[in-house]
Amino acid sequence: MTRSEEIKNAIYALMFSALGALFKVYGGMRYSSEAVFVDGLTCIAGLFAGLSVIWWLRKASMPPDEDHPYGHERLLFGGVVHTIVIYSLVAGYIFFMLLHPKSYEVSPEASIYAAIGVAFYAIAIALYRRVTVAGSPIAIFTFSEILEGVISITSSLLGSMWGYMIDYIGAWIIEAYLFVEIGQQSIELINMISDRVSPKVKKYVENEFRKRGFSIVNFRLRCVVPGKYQGDISIVPENDMSDDRAYEIAKEIQERLLESNIDLIVHVKRKNKYEGK
Ligand SMILES: [Zn+2]
Repeated sequence: MTRSEEIKNAIYALMFSALGALFKVYGGMRYSSEAVFVDGLTCIAGLFAGLSVIWWLRKASMPPDEDHPYGHERLLFGGVVHTIVIYSLVAGYIFFMLLHPKSYEVSPEASIYAAIGVAFYAIAIALYRRVTVAGSPIAIFTFSEILEGVISITSSLLGSMWGYMIDYIGAWIIEAYLFVEIGQQSIELINMISDRVSPKVKKYVENEFRKRGFSIVNFRLRCVVPGKYQGDISIVPENDMSDDRAYEIAKEIQERLLESNIDLIVHVKRKNKYEGK
């Protein structure tokens, strides 16, 4: 699939999720279901979050320049920050909206509108999955809208049969889930910007040098964005290795690691320096 086809898919996906959001917000207001309305508001938040993620994704793909000599990849986190802000705003609005309940009568049509909304979301997810780079995280995101949709369909339907309280509780469940998501996203963001690296990746790099006859004196590695690493390593060659040969092998390993997105500065040290001679 070409890049322009991918972008076309992403735009169609956004349109289908906008339709889904519209049906839920309208259905919730017109047929008085708080659960469906709240669900619709979270869908609108998701829509803006999706747009923001796409915007930052384009920014992050710019090549290195004067003010960003390491590249612009970390601008990806702009999308995460905006997503948290957008969802927090909506969660706050819903919180004060639900705080003052008045009794209301839910019409059964509300759950039908919610179901139509969920159907549009299912199409949007299928389309997002076909967009390689940006698509899959958004697909996961949009998937939680399906879960919320199931809650709003069920609680509005039961609410129309047995009273508004069930619908009202459904609205609070969706709101609570929103807070959980905001918390999870925040923790995820902190983890990603704190230079954490998985021991597996570190071990992999160390092995690349050890199996070619080096011992490791000093090694630091950090994750720039998921799947991309930077670091520095100091290595000492085995006794019988000439300096020229050591530099040659070190360069080989360095280039191979760079191909798998591990950008390392390699220092080759002389052995006697580390034996106190
Ligand atoms: Zn720049």
